Amino acid sequence: MSPVYYSLRMRAAGAGRHLSGAERIVLADQAASAAAQLVARGIAHGGQTAEVHCTLEPLDAGAIRRSRLPDVRTWQVPDWRAGRRLALTLLMECGVGESAAARAMQALDRGAAPGGSVMRGAMLVDAQSGERLEDDPARGVRVSRMDLDPACRDALLATLSGAGLAHHRTAEALVLAGKVLHAPGIVAELCWSDDPGYLTGYVATPAGGYQRICPLKQAGDRRGGRALFVDAGNRSLNGLVDYLESQPVLFTAAGTIHPPRPWSDAP
Ligand code: AMP
Repeated sequence: MSPVYYSLRMRAAGAGRHLSGAERIVLADQAASAAAQLVARGIAHGGQTAEVHCTLEPLDAGAIRRSRLPDVRTWQVPDWRAGRRLALTLLMECGVGESAAARAMQALDRGAAPGGSVMRGAMLVDAQSGERLEDDPARGVRVSRMDLDPACRDALLATLSGAGLAHHRTAEALVLAGKVLHAPGIVAELCWSDDPGYLTGYVATPAGGYQRICPLKQAGDRRGGRALFVDAGNRSLNGLVDYLESQPVLFTAAGTIHPPRPWSDAP
């Protein structure tokens, strides 16, 4: 019998705001333990969590696309301001307009949801004008239904870990970026976490892969988020959002993982 895959999604909220979320694709016999792990993550927010929602839905196995993870580069920069300059440079290199990139960074810095809080999902940003394109600026777009293929999950995690990328955030962000980079009309993704202790962020582009920047945010900052830059001339927003939210994608192989390198624009 062919395996049955499930989309497992968790979201935790408290004090009137989104606290954390996670997306997995699991086989039936893994669902209970994976859900327990995600619930544990959802309640680990210093007593702030008021509710955790977990959803388990079967997927059409025939609709699942399989792909390779993006190549990984890691840039070590002197401080988070240099990190932002590098992010700007990488975004401009792949065709994002300077003011569009700068506007998106300002929005993430201030809290991109109305009232300056953190969004539950990603902003969609016109790569030239910088205009926000998502329907709901508090929710944004949740990229969902993607994971490492259960058949090679342990081997891929071991590969990442062997390359010094053991943090669960890295694997999850790499998977998310891998899905985003195959989206129709995507020019680039920019991300830094809302976790005040996790300072590494990234820029992902179809040509440059997944480029980690350490650090990309200031220690202690509770704001973070994601900006997905969309080609202004190739906007089928409904198709893009449908792909990001609904198309199941499993990753079966790692890309090339380059050793960390220093980057500085100081003279
Ligand atoms: P994290 O890397 O989990 O700290 O997430 C950083 C920010 O990225 C969150 O505050 C959300 O705004 C956004 N985000 C997290 N998960 C997703 C997702 N699955 N799809 C789109 N945006 C997300």
